Amino acid sequence: MNLFNVYPLFNINPVKAQGSFLWDDKGQQYLDFYGGHAVISIGHNHPHYQKTLKEQLDKISFYSNSVQNELQTELAEKLGRISGYEDYSLFLCNSGAEANENALKLASFHNGKSKVVYFSGSFHGRTSAAVSVTDNPKIVAPVNYDERFIRSEWNNTGQLEDIFEKEGTEISSVIIEGIQGVGGVMIPDAAFLMRIKELCQQYDAVLILDEVQSGYGRSGYFFAHQEYGIQPDLITTAKGMGNGFPIGGVLIHPEFQATNGLLGTTFGGNHLACAAAIAVLDVMKDENLMENARIMGDYIEEKIKMLPHIRSIRRKGLMIGIELDRDCAEVRSRLLYDHHIFTGNSNDKAVLRILPALNIKKEETDLFINALKTVLEGLTTEAAKALTH
Ligand code: PMP
Repeated sequence: MNLFNVYPLFNINPVKAQGSFLWDDKGQQYLDFYGGHAVISIGHNHPHYQKTLKEQLDKISFYSNSVQNELQTELAEKLGRISGYEDYSLFLCNSGAEANENALKLASFHNGKSKVVYFSGSFHGRTSAAVSVTDNPKIVAPVNYDERFIRSEWNNTGQLEDIFEKEGTEISSVIIEGIQGVGGVMIPDAAFLMRIKELCQQYDAVLILDEVQSGYGRSGYFFAHQEYGIQPDLITTAKGMGNGFPIGGVLIHPEFQATNGLLGTTFGGNHLACAAAIAVLDVMKDENLMENARIMGDYIEEKIKMLPHIRSIRRKGLMIGIELDRDCAEVRSRLLYDHHIFTGNSNDKAVLRILPALNIKKEETDLFINALKTVLEGLTTEAAKALTH
């Protein structure tokens, strides 16, 4: 059987990983500045994570949600404590798209309305409802044309106010990323987020914060929106939550009623997934990783901001978008093939996306900084050579 492959692939086959490094089947070492797309939060194969998962594997890996699972309770308590959302409930599922799917559904059950406002540049996943609120030219989604889904411009408060004025009574929810990742590390301004919150309150709409990529400490806050002090009704999480083990969740405001049969999934919150997510939280706390994300993020920005060909740096903690004066594809492939460093791109072709593990070390960031310097200065030298020929 052939793989139904939908991804463009680099010709690299990683077979081993440790900390911020990967090794391929030929023994070549790579520095991971992409974190497997913001998934690797505490580094590859962290000893505490490995030990916890192995021990759990020897005890019990899975049983159905029809019985008690004390690991789910432990995870909810620890997540509540570290995020400050102690009075919220946690629904556990398996991915970011599934978390958003369930959040959109919860919102409609909560207020009996069906329209959803989403934003230009958004990415919320590839399942049916999640893709309908995703604004990505590469994703084919006929359901996007469903009139329930209303697209609004990012950071455009005026347009959003017009939408609410016209259709507010029918709007069930607004879904917004804490920081847009796939869209090119687009940070919402404080006034925009606050106005969204006010409009949601005024029109009885549910505010869904998608923190799948920007959450779990990556921004230096536990969730990126927390810098602004706003409280969403629903928060979705996944990616960094399991450090590679599939797990997602929805944090649910206490006003929402749990109804039997409303939410559910076979694998959600299984013992292994919970053990992985608990291990991530323990390491984040014990090793002060949110602080490291802030410090290392500041350091990288300081060291690269004067390099040639950089137009702007959009960043919070270790969620970093480096906007170049050109398509980032060549820079990205030189970093990969000449310097053996993984980085990411985004929908905005000029933006190189950097998502290292939150426990990245200074000497590892220096490897990236020096490589980026060589690549960007190389572009300048080539441009100068071309002029003199
Ligand atoms: N929301 C955001 C903000 C994301 O970046 C992603 C994945 N790129 C998703 C949702 C979907 O998550 P998953 O791939 O786990 O379904």
